[in-house]
Amino acid sequence: MCSFGYNPVMDNQIIIIGGGASALMLASLLPKNTATIIESNPKLGEKILISGGGKCNITNTKMGTEFFLGDKDFVAPSLKKFSEKALLRWLERQNLEPVIKKETQYFCRDSAKELLDIFTKESKKQKIYLNENVLEVTKRDEVFYVKTNKKTHTSKAVVIASGGLSFPKLGASSIGYDIAESFSHSLVKTAPALVGFTVQKEQFFFKELSGVATDVKITVGESVCEGALLFAHKGMSGPAVLDASLYWEKGKIEIDFLPDFSWNSIKGSKKQISSLLPMPKRVTKAFLTQFSIEDKIASKLTTEELRSLQGLNHYIFAPAGTFGYSKAEVTKGGVDTSEVDSVTMMSHKEQGLYFLGEVLDVTGRLGGYNFQWAFSSAFSCSKSIKEYT
Ligand SMILES: Cc1cc2nc3c(=O)[nH]c(=O)nc-3n(C[C@H](O)[C@H](O)[C@H](O)COP(=O)(O)OP(=O)(O)OC[C@H]3O[C@@H](n4cnc5c(N)ncnc54)[C@H](O)[C@@H]3O)c2cc1C
Repeated sequence: MCSFGYNPVMDNQIIIIGGGASALMLASLLPKNTATIIESNPKLGEKILISGGGKCNITNTKMGTEFFLGDKDFVAPSLKKFSEKALLRWLERQNLEPVIKKETQYFCRDSAKELLDIFTKESKKQKIYLNENVLEVTKRDEVFYVKTNKKTHTSKAVVIASGGLSFPKLGASSIGYDIAESFSHSLVKTAPALVGFTVQKEQFFFKELSGVATDVKITVGESVCEGALLFAHKGMSGPAVLDASLYWEKGKIEIDFLPDFSWNSIKGSKKQISSLLPMPKRVTKAFLTQFSIEDKIASKLTTEELRSLQGLNHYIFAPAGTFGYSKAEVTKGGVDTSEVDSVTMMSHKEQGLYFLGEVLDVTGRLGGYNFQWAFSSAFSCSKSIKEYT
């Protein structure tokens, strides 16, 4: 008997909640007519299309648990079973050969649509419901009841592949966490990640540099993030900042605005300081103004002025916050992985309930790590969940 007062729809034996990256990989790997995808958006994989600047950064030549926040022992088995090489081989069989950009990152050659087309084609072998919003999951007598805004579906297994809270305009919702809690799972506090920082009054001058980028090294606790910092209208963004946001909770960060620069190299120079420091001139000038130092020739700098400038190697301040979920590429935190099997992705709390991808407390750095995790966790699940097909 249905718990919601109307007749449930008997679908395939596995219901996948969400039609994003991890769901589509799972649906592709499972035998025909064994799974049902329920997606709230009118289309599948909307996030894939806009990812990686429209070219989808699929994975990375440098792969390992060190690129992930979360329990590394939980991440390891999936990464081992479905590594970046295995993923690339799978894509090659589907006639997709990603190209390497930015030294280590694999992207679609022309457009993220190349990847989405593969998933759309592959997942056609499963049942798909679009524009259907999952509201609740309950279980009675070994049967799951998946209630949506349209009907109630039943199945023997349920896979939560509904992602995190980032980018609500593309369908993100808290449903994965709500379902997890309703089955007595614990959650690790969530926060926006791979996101820019807003700044406090002392750093408001960053906003005037909006659009300018410079290479930096950012230290957050034990973690060091290198790459470009992009000054932004709201504060700061860019790859190094996005990575730093993964490790930041509250409190101070340290930025080295002049990594690999030797102050000895400008000793006695007759050139103006703004021409000597390896940063965009506008940035150097903004800092000179902040430190009340004239843009003079290097040899004329007083010891005190030089010391102030050397502070650019250790510029310490506390960001005000982040740009929030509307701009964050991912959500850190999520379903506590100590309550999920690292080999099968099945819940330790409820037989037949599985979790994949971003809804789990696993978050990768910038560079294709989050898609790799979505695909690797889907692969692990695909092996074990077959018993329900
Ligand atoms: C702008 C942007 C760029 C990114 N670029 C990259 C990149 O280049 N490389 C990379 O590795 N990662 C990137 N990411 C991160 C990556 O997209 C995610 O980590 C990944 O998609 C997570 O996969 P998932 O399957 O767990 O969740 P998602 O792909 O988010 O899929 C979850 C799906 O569940 C659906 N859903 C949610 N609630 C409900 C509900 N109640 N009922 C039914 N359906 C529901 C959502 O609509 C969504 O389609 C990017 C993210 C963003 C926002």
